[in-house]
Amino acid sequence: MKKEMESTVKNICRDSGNDKIHLLDILRRVQNQFGCVSDEAIDLIAKSLNIPRVDVESTVTFYSFLSKEPKGQIVIRLCNDIIDRMNGYDKVAKAFREELGIDFGETTKDGKISLENTPCIGMCDQAPAALVNGEVVTYLSTDRAREIVKILRLTGNPKKLVQRLGDGNNAHELVKSMVQNNIRRAGEVVFSLAESQPNIALEKALAMSPVEVINEVKTARLRGRGGAGFPTGMKWEFTRAANGDKKYIICNADEGEPGTFKDRVLLTELPDRIFEGMTIAGYAIGAEEGIMYLRGEYEYLYNFLEATLEKRRKDGLLGKNVMGKKEFNFDIRIQLGAGAYICGEETALISSCEGFRGDPKNRPPFPAQRGFLGYPSCINNVETFCAVLSILDKGAGWFAELGSRGSAGTKVLSVSGDCQSPGIYEYPFGITIKKLLKDVGAEDAMAVQVGGASGQMIGEKDYDRIICFDDLATGGSIMIFGPQRNILEVVDYFMEFFIEESCGYCTPCRVGNVVLRNYLQKIISGKGEPSDLDFLQKLGENIKAASRCGLGQTSPNPILSTLKNFHPVYAAMVREETEGLQPTFDIQAALRDSEAITGRKSVLFIH
Ligand code: SF4
Repeated sequence: MKKEMESTVKNICRDSGNDKIHLLDILRRVQNQFGCVSDEAIDLIAKSLNIPRVDVESTVTFYSFLSKEPKGQIVIRLCNDIIDRMNGYDKVAKAFREELGIDFGETTKDGKISLENTPCIGMCDQAPAALVNGEVVTYLSTDRAREIVKILRLTGNPKKLVQRLGDGNNAHELVKSMVQNNIRRAGEVVFSLAESQPNIALEKALAMSPVEVINEVKTARLRGRGGAGFPTGMKWEFTRAANGDKKYIICNADEGEPGTFKDRVLLTELPDRIFEGMTIAGYAIGAEEGIMYLRGEYEYLYNFLEATLEKRRKDGLLGKNVMGKKEFNFDIRIQLGAGAYICGEETALISSCEGFRGDPKNRPPFPAQRGFLGYPSCINNVETFCAVLSILDKGAGWFAELGSRGSAGTKVLSVSGDCQSPGIYEYPFGITIKKLLKDVGAEDAMAVQVGGASGQMIGEKDYDRIICFDDLATGGSIMIFGPQRNILEVVDYFMEFFIEESCGYCTPCRVGNVVLRNYLQKIISGKGEPSDLDFLQKLGENIKAASRCGLGQTSPNPILSTLKNFHPVYAAMVREETEGLQPTFDIQAALRDSEAITGRKSVLFIH
């Protein structure tokens, strides 16, 4: 076995040219083959790639889909995000536990099946959902959970779980997934591409100079669709102007923000158009290589996307002299992630593309100056590339007229939670929350989380506000909470999520979020004091100011926005200090573990 493992690992490394840039791909393959990346495998990989062992080990321990400890041949990863919890996660989890006879984090005695939790897998419109190896199972119930275990025990093959196929390209031979697109409203920019002729935009771009293409995008006032809203044309201009022998265009297809799933649908229905947009961007900035960073949770789309790329190569739309344009050579590769929310942050994404831990990098220098492997790199969201095509197809003026004053065009929204029609909605910027709630069937909403966990939670008094970069900005996530929900429990979940996903590099984020959550839980348990609310506010602001990357700079938002918009909920939970001394530390509870270990009862003398 040892010999077999040795030759297999060496072959996997050789297949990747023993190139450290492919470390993540190598680790994924070793994990799939052996159910773990053992110490022996780590040694072999480090030797083959000629890199320090610590680089390999720290990468293995960073990503949730990789493990040093052996996992079962099949890993069930049940999504435990807030929307899944609202849709029956507890019951489904119990059914899996009972049917498998194991708890979460454990593997069945025969080594066949492991059971794990995982944060948002991009299926909030069809929750509860789970990943079974690469296979996605959706709309889970207790019966379905039990049936899944039976099928897996009988066949040992997760592919047998797909008993009905989803809509659109989810039913494509290379996808064969039960995932549904749930496109509820197609707008004029992105989903209209399904009707337009492919590659006309690319042809138009190649007839222009790169600077003219950039000017067209600037005139359209296109801003990045991933959430931050940086002007796309300006980003392209900076990258083009930066010094570097090579330049890279990177597509951020790592939507990990809870409640976001619109890129999943775009990748399924418009992959050819997304690659066309990347090619135009490559031409504009002077890149010869593009990378699509695909989140590990969307592995089920990988073969389909690869086949789309292959067809474009055959059709002369990628490779040497693209579309006959002399000296424009451009190709795209797909980098599959391995389960890490932080990799959606652009500098962390670059670290991951380089094969290592998804650690954020210091800025400056910005990726446009020094990005992938130190070369100028431009990172755009999936939806941004789609918008570029419509701009070139229909004109920058047409695009700039759409939407609201500071936000031209449309926005694709992923709507989930307490509403009648969760799914994908494309609207011109400027739509009010009130109109959105009417369209999705959620007019009784108590709260709306705009922009995912790192966004803000608003209540009824703000439903006349509009979705745009200057008011309520969102990368696409809209989560709706009905009157039956407990706001503080939702906030507690978001804080749990951020604590889990923090890379741990800087203290304000690593420690501060834990302290924030402790105080929140103190309030939830009824032991809070009014002064705790001020403390939460101050600490939250300090964490935002002192953190190194976007995660820490936004993680206190759930607390800060609810303190602002749902203050009475907090106020009702805290007691005045004048009622007497409130115990903030339960010493009896703290001693419980040591009492259990020593088998002795503590005697406390409190005067
Ligand atoms: Fe890591 Fe958080 Fe610091 Fe970002 S803010 S670098 S996620 S510890």
